[in-house]
Amino acid sequence: MKANLASICVAAAALMSACSGEAPAPESAASTNAQGAAAVNAERLLNADKEPGSWLTAGRTYEEQRYSPLDQINDTNVKELGLSWYADIDTERGQEATPVIVDGVMYLTTAWSMVKAYDIKTGAKLWEYDPDVRKNKAADACCDVVNRGVAAWNGKIYLGALDGRLIALDGKTGKLVWEKQTTDTNLPYTITGVPRIIKGKVIIGNGGAEYRVRGYVTAYDAETGEQAWRWWSVPGDPSKPYEQPELAEAAKGWKGDFYWKIGGGGTVWDGMAYDAALDTIYVGTGNGNPWNQSIRSPGGGDNLFLASIVALDPNTGKYKWHYQTTPGETWDYTATQPIMLADLNYPEGKRRVVMQAPKNGFFYVLDAKDGKLISAEKFAPLTWATHVDMTTGRPVEIPEARYEVTGKPHIVAPAALGMHNWHPMAFNQETGYVYIPVQVSANSYAGPKEFKLNLEGTNTGTDFSGGAALCAAPGAKCGNIESYILAWDPVKAKEVWRVPNEVYGSSGILATSGNLIFSGNHKGEFNAYNATTGEKLWTAPTQARVVAAPSTFMADGKQKIALLVGARGLPDNQIRTNAYSANNSRLLVFQAGGEAKLPTEMPAIDPAKLGVRIDPPLLTANNETVFAGEQAYAANCAMCHGPNAVPGAGSIAPDLRYSGLLPIRNGWNPTVRGGDRAQRGMPAFEAVLPVETTDAILAYVIKRANDEKAEQEAALKKSQ
Ligand code: CA
Repeated sequence: MKANLASICVAAAALMSACSGEAPAPESAASTNAQGAAAVNAERLLNADKEPGSWLTAGRTYEEQRYSPLDQINDTNVKELGLSWYADIDTERGQEATPVIVDGVMYLTTAWSMVKAYDIKTGAKLWEYDPDVRKNKAADACCDVVNRGVAAWNGKIYLGALDGRLIALDGKTGKLVWEKQTTDTNLPYTITGVPRIIKGKVIIGNGGAEYRVRGYVTAYDAETGEQAWRWWSVPGDPSKPYEQPELAEAAKGWKGDFYWKIGGGGTVWDGMAYDAALDTIYVGTGNGNPWNQSIRSPGGGDNLFLASIVALDPNTGKYKWHYQTTPGETWDYTATQPIMLADLNYPEGKRRVVMQAPKNGFFYVLDAKDGKLISAEKFAPLTWATHVDMTTGRPVEIPEARYEVTGKPHIVAPAALGMHNWHPMAFNQETGYVYIPVQVSANSYAGPKEFKLNLEGTNTGTDFSGGAALCAAPGAKCGNIESYILAWDPVKAKEVWRVPNEVYGSSGILATSGNLIFSGNHKGEFNAYNATTGEKLWTAPTQARVVAAPSTFMADGKQKIALLVGARGLPDNQIRTNAYSANNSRLLVFQAGGEAKLPTEMPAIDPAKLGVRIDPPLLTANNETVFAGEQAYAANCAMCHGPNAVPGAGSIAPDLRYSGLLPIRNGWNPTVRGGDRAQRGMPAFEAVLPVETTDAILAYVIKRANDEKAEQEAALKKSQ
């Protein structure tokens, strides 16, 4: 896709010289820096606090506290913040990346694993890179075609692409240096997480534990892409030698022979942190595959290393210790959420700790050296356990929560998306608080009447409609309940304050030394709060839902805050103002006295810039089937997905014409009929629609996608 300088020009009125159409990118700090672009090394990463004006890695430092020592913007002057410049993003799915800022350049990823680089002074786009992920790969992504950002090292920018490639780009030009397939392309693995770079090795995990994969994390040589080590999170085929000695031990807590055939799960898809003094990398592992433990491991067992924080040697990948948050995981309770290292001041002295607020709702503090549990308290109203037994370190479960053991549906909090998901939390070294984006939910869990392996779609081993009667009962609380920013004292293991969100949903958090925390929300705002009290001090409109976390940096002697916005549909009462993104995806940069304004109406679309974006399968169904599908679509689907398969302003669900499931009937039907995406709001139509009808709806949507393709091709032709 081509650069969209026009929108930057509107924003950067004071910088018009940088915005003369498609002129070559202006001089940036990158091109004048003697070291060149993205010249990050171990020295710089270990001393990140000595250059607080940069933001060298997604979590800012190896400790991943997302805490900036900058205080030029602080609780006394934050009211002066205004939009400095912005750039339109040309994708319209979730934007989850934290901008990385190094040597005068800002690097970020967007949906579809695309990378963009901007001059931090002018906002001019320096280069962009599209790895051309095949669009039907979307069918393998449980939770959208997202990406959480890049890593910078020795002149290169690294990203993991949705299709499992690890990619190294030239930091100055965006040109491909090397790429490596890190996954078996026959399996539904995906990458959405950020690569970490430790002593010249790029560490990358992957996702897919809703489908049928076995989790692992791999290290590659940053210069050559050669594999250095791989650590598997769950045991494989027991008839073959185990790759690691601890897997033989772990296998004793697995039953039957289905788990290793389906992969077992435990994917390392997000949280990691590195302690340089202990030379240890901490990784979080995901849920079981399938979720339902009685199918995965009939008879139970701990199922290590699912839902665990695991300490590894970054040089060799050798296991050091683990802490399992949810033994025998059966509710999709991953421990892949962000991991953070800190020195906490306990009354008895300072302790080096690992902290995590995983899906299951307990806030864990572990000793970074040996994994010893220091505290585990509820940060949200979970109902699957009463507490964590501090002598055994194990949760004390409520027996009814194990639907797969009792055979009875039960309402459990949280639901599968967790009390906290991937949205970054932050730690303020001065207040001593951790700021967590909390999302409270509950749902009924039930086993299926019969489990059939699905080779194309998800395999949760649960029946989302199985407990519908429980949720429908008077007084029952199911679904999304409330969300808020929580200030948590990790030493006292207690809540300090909370700020409720008006619109349900989580957004990443930035903490700064200006006694501030910054976070977007789903109402379409970017806010600053007093880090000590939670008092709201500043707000700006984003025209989009926000899920990503901000970062902060210095340019021209001024502190700036960068935030990527855009996720799902538009906020209520917000019109579309980005010609190239239906959810107003944008990069926003703020500074004191910033006077740029976001557009208030939809600009004209240049078809040449859009190109042909849709890639549907050929329509093979006959006219009668398509017509039957049209009728059924209008009656059952149009309310949420829009009339004629085109989402309108009031549509709450995605544009099905772009669905990655269109080429995969065996993925379409489990979603439409079987409720594979029920946790994301797509109900199961099995009881309502016969399979002929859902097949006909598929044919109709394919027809509408091909109509759109023809329109896009015609528009492009006309513009050339
Ligand atoms: Ca999961």
